[in-house]
Amino acid sequence: MIATRNLVHRYGDAAAVDRVSLTIPDGEFVLLAGPNGSGKSTLVRHFNGLLDPDRGEVLVDGTPVGDDLVAARTRVGMVFQNPRDGFVAPTVGADVAFGPENLGLSHEEIERRVDAALAAVNMAGRRDERVDDLSGGERERVAIAAALAMEPDHLVLDEPFTGLDAPARESVVEQLRGLRASGTGVVLVTHDLRDALDLADRVVALADGRVAVDAPPAEARKELPELGVRVP
Ligand code: ADP
Ligand code: MG
Repeated sequence: MIATRNLVHRYGDAAAVDRVSLTIPDGEFVLLAGPNGSGKSTLVRHFNGLLDPDRGEVLVDGTPVGDDLVAARTRVGMVFQNPRDGFVAPTVGADVAFGPENLGLSHEEIERRVDAALAAVNMAGRRDERVDDLSGGERERVAIAAALAMEPDHLVLDEPFTGLDAPARESVVEQLRGLRASGTGVVLVTHDLRDALDLADRVVALADGRVAVDAPPAEARKELPELGVRVP
């Protein structure tokens, strides 16, 4: 479970996240929407300690993130907007193995996780391919596999559809559908609700750093246009 309590994050004098209290249970699929600059990225970067609160707190399974960064990063996987920035190794297999290797797991366990994570994103058998040779959609799926190999309770994806064409987007949506079915919690940050709205258990929308909508998709659909979020 991820919980924020009155979370405030400022850049200079401006509060990018302004007293946000949210509880995200294990297994929940949350769509985090809101206009550009509404604080989505700033908020989710607290979930695994990439940013620290100025006020309030962020708990993962009841423990403040800053008290046990390793636990938070094991439980909350993060996939960034531009997967290029996230790759640490030249080949698909080495990149996905990197996180589990840093957990000090056995060779057999690392192999098992890499195979399972690549299978989950339809990239089985492609361990030796070079990341540089992949399409945008394939890179996105490798980035998701790298996060999955940590076997997180929650996977946070910040604008994963940016720069993807329609088939690649559909492919990523399919992986997310599979994750949802397998019980992994997903926090999907996106302003592109086209394919994602029907996947969500819950839609949270931010406006000026505050929670403006927190509702099931059918209800949120009515409120989002007022915030400048286009609904399909
Ligand atoms: P979103 O992801 O919803 O587009 P962000 O969390 O990136 O929103 O940004 C929220 C606000 O904080 C915006 O006004 C943005 O300009 C500002 N901001 C984001 N990152 C920084 C930063 N590193 N330094 C200063 N201001 C920032
Ligand atoms: Mg953002």
